[in-house]
Amino acid sequence: MILVLKPDVTDEQLAHILERIQSLGFRTHLSRGTYRTIVGVIGDESQLRSTPLSAIEGVAEVVPILPPYKLASVEAHPEPSIVDVSGVRIGGGHLALIAGPCAVESEEQLDAIAAAVKAAGANILRGGAYKPRTSPYSFQGLGEQGLRILRDVGRKHGLPTVTEVMDPRHVDVVAQYADMFQIGARNMQNFTLLTEVGRCNRPVLLKRGMSATVEDLLMSAEYILSQGNSQVVLCERGIKGFDPSTRNVFDVALVPQVHLRSHLPVIVDPSHATGKPALIPACALAGLAAGADGVHIEVHHCPEKALSDGAQALLPEQYAEVARQMMRLAELLGKTVSQRVVQ
Ligand code: PEP
Ligand code: MN
Repeated sequence: MILVLKPDVTDEQLAHILERIQSLGFRTHLSRGTYRTIVGVIGDESQLRSTPLSAIEGVAEVVPILPPYKLASVEAHPEPSIVDVSGVRIGGGHLALIAGPCAVESEEQLDAIAAAVKAAGANILRGGAYKPRTSPYSFQGLGEQGLRILRDVGRKHGLPTVTEVMDPRHVDVVAQYADMFQIGARNMQNFTLLTEVGRCNRPVLLKRGMSATVEDLLMSAEYILSQGNSQVVLCERGIKGFDPSTRNVFDVALVPQVHLRSHLPVIVDPSHATGKPALIPACALAGLAAGADGVHIEVHHCPEKALSDGAQALLPEQYAEVARQMMRLAELLGKTVSQRVVQ
């Protein structure tokens, strides 16, 4: 960590700064320039993070050297992590093609959609049983019954499943049925929930909050990792913008940013990012071209009757077309889409 001192720092203030740092058990390295003086602080930086050094008289700026997300950082783990979702690998050249309806509505509905997306090449089935809805009067999901349907349909089609958990009290029941937890955008900073899923030995799809910075996202991942669960996949799903022509703003630059800073896989969700079926294929391909480790797309066989997010759902045949294009791009990029081997 480096402390940049104020131009008018006095000798007494400087002596106090050095004494304070040393009293905390750190060594100091003083560098006096013509205009500014800086103090290098030598020691385990993480021990100093919660000390308000900028509150010491004479300190202008505190410049950390290492990122605060220790476990999620490339410094901690230079090789890309590969997350295994019941036999389907994500990261390190393996792509996740996650598809399914926004919400599980019935066995017939999910079965029809699962058959179609599996035939198109998807390798993980999604479907919400607990839905975070803006209105309390909207369909809230089928709860445990939805989880049961998701598990059964996933098994039938040889697809591992991912579903959202919104409440720390539901972590156990979701873990009984699903292969991967989804933490939704609205809960990205629900630290109790992050801690709870961090205690489980089950992969987590962590979606970016709609106004979260890259650092916020990585710090949320850190909550999960710090509890001992290393199976975290990040997801860009759009951030709030000012233009109502798309549901959110698809921030494709998050993908290479994450790869520069972290070893964790990162996928894109063009469905929630754009909210527009016509924009989904282009954004899916853009995500892969930017290096994403997978693409998450909502599909419904009858969008006009969907109980949630029908307006953004792709029809199965539209999904099949974008999946074909994604496979071709994957081949060009030298990446694979692995399927679970059904015993
Ligand atoms: C979803 O995946 O259906 C969902 C609610 O996503 P997000 O949390 O990104 O809005
Ligand atoms: Mn949705």
